[in-house]
Amino acid sequence: MNLKEIGNVKGFMPKNEGMALLKWAEHFSSIGPLLEIGTYCGKSSLYLCAGAKHNNENVYTIDHHSGSEEHQLNEEYFDEEIYDQALNKINTLPLLIDNINKFKVSNIIPIVAESKKVSVNWSINLGMVFIDGGHSFESANSDYIAWETYISKKGALVIHDIFENPEEGGQAPYEIYKKALNNGYKLYERVETIICLIKN
Ligand code: SAH
Ligand code: MG
Repeated sequence: MNLKEIGNVKGFMPKNEGMALLKWAEHFSSIGPLLEIGTYCGKSSLYLCAGAKHNNENVYTIDHHSGSEEHQLNEEYFDEEIYDQALNKINTLPLLIDNINKFKVSNIIPIVAESKKVSVNWSINLGMVFIDGGHSFESANSDYIAWETYISKKGALVIHDIFENPEEGGQAPYEIYKKALNNGYKLYERVETIICLIKN
């Protein structure tokens, strides 16, 4: 996989944070497969897959592919390239498939569904869970509760878009970060707005 090219993929994962994600994926895939909530067009998934290759592990990535609130028509992060004119809705699945083919990714397992729905019957222990789905408190909190339970001991919980200052960004990821610390997770590393916690 050409790491430099991932930088040009449509998405919300800056290079520095993406490289941190890759490094953590390399490390924690020694414990088990990885799972991501919030695939979008696969940008962060590509970093995760590149890292997980190190241990021949797979990356499960969940998205209903109809976008978060901020991606909808007339919202801040609307993008006409991901708008399906015929269906009148956001659909990021075609671009995900293009990227999987373009980067020849062999260790990705895309799951097209709502996060909570998938979690109900889940049974695979995970080396790392990356939360980057809906950014309302309800959505982020539901992802935390639904998925942290499947992280193996010494495995990692990674959360994106951490802003201490409400003027810089939404507070939901920061709230679940604090909740995880209260529940015994320990900070492993932080790079800009992405944090990696370890489960005790
Ligand atoms: N990680 C991506 C960005 C994710 S944007 C990147 O690197 O570019 C957030 C994504 O979460 C959106 O694609 C949206 O469709 C998805 N999402 C939001 N709420 C969700 C839910 N409840 N279940 C599944 N996917 C959800
Ligand atoms: Mg994000």
